[in-house]
Order: sequence, then C-alpha cells, then structure tokens
Amino acid sequence: MLKKIIIARSYGFCMGVKRAINVASETSAAANEKVTILNEIVHNEAVVERFRKEGVGQVLNVSDVNEGTLIISAHGVAPAVIEEAKSKGLNVVDATCPLVTRIYEIIQKVVAKGYHVIHFGDPKHDETMGVVGHAPDRITVVSDISELENLPVWDNRKLALTIQTTSSMDEAEEFQKAAEVKWPHLKVFESICNATTQRQSAIRDLAPNVDMILVVGSTTSANSKRLALIADSICGNGRLIGTADEIDNSWFNNGQKINSVGLSAGASTPEFLVNEVIDRLVDISGGEVEVIQQEKTKKNRATELK
Ligand code: SF4
Repeated sequence: MLKKIIIARSYGFCMGVKRAINVASETSAAANEKVTILNEIVHNEAVVERFRKEGVGQVLNVSDVNEGTLIISAHGVAPAVIEEAKSKGLNVVDATCPLVTRIYEIIQKVVAKGYHVIHFGDPKHDETMGVVGHAPDRITVVSDISELENLPVWDNRKLALTIQTTSSMDEAEEFQKAAEVKWPHLKVFESICNATTQRQSAIRDLAPNVDMILVVGSTTSANSKRLALIADSICGNGRLIGTADEIDNSWFNNGQKINSVGLSAGASTPEFLVNEVIDRLVDISGGEVEVIQQEKTKKNRATELK
C-alpha cells in the first residue's frame, strides 16, 4: 500500500531551460515575422508541443529555414551554424545556456594556447556537436572509459579535459581519474553543471530510502534518463515516465510491496507534469498517501563539487 511520496530536494526546470523558454516565448510574442526554433528548444515533448501550437516552427537543420527569426536552443550549436543562418539573412536569437557557452569559452581559450581537448560526452547529443564545432580539428570526443586505451599517449601534447554538462558524476569522475593516469599533464575543467550535480546528488540520497523512484522526463532528455538509471542502480526500481498516463496500477499491486515512492524530474520537465504524477499517485493510494519533500542537506555532494 502506497503510504509516502518523497519529492527530491532538487528536480525539474534548471536555470538554462527556464531562460531558453523565456527567450523563445518573448521572441515569439514580439515577432512580426516567422519564428523557427533550431532543434528542440529543450528536450521535453510538452514544451516542444506548446511552441508548436503557438505557431513557432521547429527544424533540425538551418538549411530548412529561409526567412524570419531563428532561435538557437539551450544546448547550443557550432559557430558555423550561426554563420550560415546569418549569411541567409536570418535574425538569430541565441538561447544557449550560459553553462554550455562557458565550455565554448574554455575550448576557445585553451585551443588558442595550443591545447588539444578531450571532451567526455555523447557524440550524438546536440550539446556535444555544438562543442566540437568550436574547434573541430582540435577536439577528441570520448563517450566511454573503454575508449581511453585506444587513444595516443600524447606525451608531448598539451591536453585539456571538458565534460558534457549533463554527464553522470560517477562516470565522469571515473573517466577523469583514468585519463589523469594516462596523461598526467592533463588540465581538467569541471564542466558538469550545478543543476545536474544537484539532481543526481538528490536521487542518490533518496534512492536507498524508497521502494521505487519515478523520474518524470522525456526519453530524448539525457539528464532525465541519467537520473532514472542512477535511481535504478541504487534502489532496483527506477523508472523514467513521460507523463502520469504511463503509470501502471499493477506497479502498486499488493504483491509489489511499494510503500514509498521517490519522485524527481529532469531539468527540462515542466512542473505541471510532476503535479499530474503526484495527483495520480494520490489516487492510487486512495487519498491516503503522505507527500513530503526530501530533506535539504547543508553539505551534499553537489555543493562539495562546486
Ligand atoms: S542542464 Fe545545465 S547546462 Fe543544460 S540547460 Fe540546464 S543548467 Fe544549462
């Protein structure tokens, strides 16, 4: 019988997502011309659909836009994309998260000083493609620690490490340690963002104390998927759900012994989707469930890493 829902102390919209949505909303409200978003403004279907209903176009390639305003999403793009948009006469509005821009600035700075950059991240993610585009011939993307052994020794090369903002803290730390053994001269730039560390830290503390964790977020959202994986690895019952409709009553049948559920959401998940999940869980419990917030810690892993 479900008796308790514990809401993670850190969940949902991050600064970069709120900012991108505000930029897109204000641009679309003020525009007298066609407005198009390049890629998903943030990786959440509900947010993407909202802009679609407001008449804001969405494309995956700048070559598909020939007029009006082009909004760059929170994950950013390569400089060549912005140049192409401007050369076509488009009005470019940049909603790239400042913490992604910070990685661009680090790369530009170290590359100018002669460094080669190792970037730990998913090569297919929008953010990584934008990062690589800032110095295509001076960046090596590594997505897994197993790739390290096949990379050159690079004894005589200045090397810097940057990390995708939404990476797993554990995987990034493990990779960094191994990379520093292989390349003792590696200059490390911690670039996982605070929103990611705070949400992952909250899930880690929550997971041992509950029977199930639900993470509300899209399957296209790297940080949401990561939260569900971390939860699952600790409590053995972590699930990623896009909306409350994906909750199956059978998960809570008596045989399952689910007394407590932890609840979190990815950095691109709107609050209303979280509230709908809470309402659904309250219904499942017959109105008996207690909804509480996870205790805030003064010193947690996220703050230690800042
Ligand atoms: S997850 Fe981090 S890097 Fe990505 S938009 Fe949010 S604050 Fe910015």
